[in-house]
Amino acid sequence: MRKINNTISAIPATAKDHSGSHINMEPLSVGTDHELDEMLHHSLGGIKTPLRAGAFDASPEEKIRIIASHVEAILHTLGMDLTDESIRETPLRVAKMYVQETFRGLDPANKPGITLFSNVYRYRQMLVEKDITFYSTCEHHLVPIFGKAHVAYFSSGKVIGLSKLNRLVDYYARRPQVQERLTIQIAAALREALETEDVAVMIDSAHLCVASRGIRDVNSTTITTEYCGKFRNMDVRREFLSYIGKDHR
Ligand SMILES: [Zn+2]
Repeated sequence: MRKINNTISAIPATAKDHSGSHINMEPLSVGTDHELDEMLHHSLGGIKTPLRAGAFDASPEEKIRIIASHVEAILHTLGMDLTDESIRETPLRVAKMYVQETFRGLDPANKPGITLFSNVYRYRQMLVEKDITFYSTCEHHLVPIFGKAHVAYFSSGKVIGLSKLNRLVDYYARRPQVQERLTIQIAAALREALETEDVAVMIDSAHLCVASRGIRDVNSTTITTEYCGKFRNMDVRREFLSYIGKDHR
């Protein structure tokens, strides 16, 4: 099991001073409702992971067998001797890892079940779960994207088990991804699960395709955000950013 080291911030909104500048880091944010509609219209085409027809006709076991043969062909083509004891099991090992771990979030059968509870504490302020560690895979290079997701919502009268927030992030991360789509998919899943529009998602991650090849920039990270409902209000947004330590001012 990977270690999840995240903390919960459920600090009530106080008469906090939200004045001062704040870094404009949200590529998906827009100014007017018209622009927002335009953005949603355009992003809808990109929110779904592109799956082919019959994507799940083969069972996971069949997929492992097929993928193992392809991995074997790749290693063979590269010139590796697959009778060597060290790599003999690699094709099967990689195939199992792809189907059961790295890309398990492609299969709707693996989507976490979400149970909502009534908000007995009548907690009406922002709930933030920050520093959710995730591992994903760049769909352009098939190398890791990894980092932190921060999610927040206002209860609509229902609350979610906190570990379910981690599980939803994990489910959408375990696919071939681009970070923008991952961000939007998590926000959409939260809106659906929590029955509210008032959700925010920020992802801050490193892309190994940038760090280990190409430009080889090991220090850059990529931030993407999706603000819905109340989080389109700048004061609410700043409160969220302050909890996750991103309100640079
Ligand atoms: Zn890449």
